[in-house]
Amino acid sequence: MMAGPRLIVLGRQGAGKGTQCARLAAHLDVPHIATGDLFRHAIAARTPLGEQARRYVEEGALVPDELVLDLVADHLGASGARRAGYLLDGFPRTLAQGQALFEVLGERAVDAAVEIDVAPAAVLPRLAARRVCQDCGSVTAAPDGWAHHLACPACGGMARRRDDDTDEAIARRLALYDEEATPLLEWLDGHDLLVTVDGIGSPDDVFARLCAALEARLPASGYQQTGTFRGPRT
Ligand code: AMP
Repeated sequence: MMAGPRLIVLGRQGAGKGTQCARLAAHLDVPHIATGDLFRHAIAARTPLGEQARRYVEEGALVPDELVLDLVADHLGASGARRAGYLLDGFPRTLAQGQALFEVLGERAVDAAVEIDVAPAAVLPRLAARRVCQDCGSVTAAPDGWAHHLACPACGGMARRRDDDTDEAIARRLALYDEEATPLLEWLDGHDLLVTVDGIGSPDDVFARLCAALEARLPASGYQQTGTFRGPRT
């Protein structure tokens, strides 16, 4: 049985990671595991994990590794889940988390890690404009200078700023990304797993670049044989 692709997608906040990951996961037919979304759901549902994570997420700080690893283990613990493959979005975020992932899952923890690269100056206006639908999770950009919520163009629900998209929390998360992600990116590169994709441009352009970069990186996995990444699953 051929296992599904195992991917990590990285990128600073506002790089378009969530949007691209949702498309890529659908395209590759793998589960999209976004730790930030999982924490937000746990917080909204007031689960014990959510209650423990709440203050970190609200402040734009990293949730302690112990809680993050519990969350990820819940989703990747079953061997069936690992066989299906996965697209990890927002995890690992630090070198320690990357090492923990490899320790638990072994050599084939990750086939490739893609960084969507957008400079800090370019993500700031994107984050200020970002509105997330409370019902379907779609991300929409508000018009310049618009400080309020919007009607979601996808489902008509209410698209609001995220609670951690305040100016202070954004600044903290961006600084943290550079500090925490740099050693992780270097380490992934040292393992010859890292691919960097330019994240400037339309979502369609960035998606096309992502697919091209991955196609070149997954030659042995069988996904290339069909020309669409949709390799045999059985
Ligand atoms: P995101 O939606 O990826 O921006 O994540 C939102 C928030 O969830 C972050 O600011 C952190 O508080 C928390 N979080 C998500 N993933 C992780 C992780 N791998 N390690 C630590 N904290 C995380």
